[in-house]
Amino acid sequence: MFNRFLETEDQVIADSLKIRFYPISVKSAKGTRITDQDGKDYLDLAAGWAVAGIGYGHPRVSSKIKEQYDTLSFTSQLSAPEQTMVSLAQKLIDITPGSFPKKVWFGHSGSDANDCIFKLVPLEKNRSRMISFMGSYHGQTLGSLSLSGHPAQSRFIGSGNVVKIPYPNPYRPPFGETDRLTDQIIDFLENEVFKTVCPAEETAGIIIEGIQSDGGLIIPPDDFLPRLQEMCRHFGIRLIFDEVKVGLGRTGKWFSFDHYGIEPDAVVLGKSLGGGLPISSVVARKEMLDVGTGIHMFTTSGNPVSSTAALETLKIIEDERLIENARHKGEYFISLLTELQKKYQWIGDIRGKGLAIGVELVEDRVSKTPAAEKTAAICYRCYQLGLLAFYVGIHSNVIEITPPLTLTKDDIDLAVSILDQAFSDLEEQKIDMNLVKEYAGW
Ligand code: PMP
Repeated sequence: MFNRFLETEDQVIADSLKIRFYPISVKSAKGTRITDQDGKDYLDLAAGWAVAGIGYGHPRVSSKIKEQYDTLSFTSQLSAPEQTMVSLAQKLIDITPGSFPKKVWFGHSGSDANDCIFKLVPLEKNRSRMISFMGSYHGQTLGSLSLSGHPAQSRFIGSGNVVKIPYPNPYRPPFGETDRLTDQIIDFLENEVFKTVCPAEETAGIIIEGIQSDGGLIIPPDDFLPRLQEMCRHFGIRLIFDEVKVGLGRTGKWFSFDHYGIEPDAVVLGKSLGGGLPISSVVARKEMLDVGTGIHMFTTSGNPVSSTAALETLKIIEDERLIENARHKGEYFISLLTELQKKYQWIGDIRGKGLAIGVELVEDRVSKTPAAEKTAAICYRCYQLGLLAFYVGIHSNVIEITPPLTLTKDDIDLAVSILDQAFSDLEEQKIDMNLVKEYAGW
């Protein structure tokens, strides 16, 4: 049954809409588990691309959206606003740091929210350039791909007005030294970029992921983001955080930048915000979003059903203390992974904050040659053993661990035992590499 389903899917669904790691076909999902068409259960370490932050099929969201749909299924909030969107905006303003007046914009995906940044920030500042980071993933629409520095987007022609600078990667320092990483990147920005291709007085904003997620789950040194904020303030450049993947509790605080006391000018949210329903937002200084009436809006922006789902999701994060859970379970997860690292030489680096964890695989720890094939093999074997994980990174060699924030200790024990088995099978050459290659696309 399941193979026939995948065959039909292959015939009718556009390839441009797909990225595949293994041949799973999903029937249902609940909490941290996904069930396939044949009734087999999987623990989802990826939370469906970090969307299922509160887990799949939360009963509170389910009853709220039904109630909302029955009461008011739709109003174009853009011309006839009602309460849910306004309450959600107020809640988002309350949890976002910054003691300046803020407003909220709503869309449907991380991409359209980053397009909001791409259009509105240059307009507000009356400056024509933006800066972002190599390896960054901000989306696939033209504006958001222009901001992106990820290899998946670099093949498309976007706007040339975005300059990409190296992300501070402590494991692979772009200028060769981990100790001086922050100094070197800030210096490069001020003394090379600003003095040549992108003058500071023409730069409207810098957009950054507090943890560079699709670029490889990279965590900058502690002093980097505060220094970047200081520099942006000095030159009057807007600092925008793309929190689409790691925001809303995943790192053990509401936002990744909360770990450093940063007050961004704008924060972009998506993915987990809607508890599974499509909704994205930008929370920003009032003047950044008030640059014109109706200049970046979509018919269903802020629709009541998605807004209700998002509002309930934020309340669940608080009521179930999911931020604390992410923090504690993340520490436990990393401690077990560190034990695994002692057994398998291919595990070059483990890093994480809360339940945003990356496991980087290398051929050996001295050369640090990225082990992309081995990473794909591990993910494939995990899938066969009932654990869903996939890989990210500009070298495709980082296992991304972004599970639901409801993850339990037992879930973690299970995940690590499956990973252990997968590494041991790889060592003993028990993994069918032809199957892996079919999906990994080399
Ligand atoms: N920003 C970040 C940090 C992301 O990780 C993603 C998706 N991987 C996006 C933006 C784009 O979001 P969407 O796919 O919803 O457009």
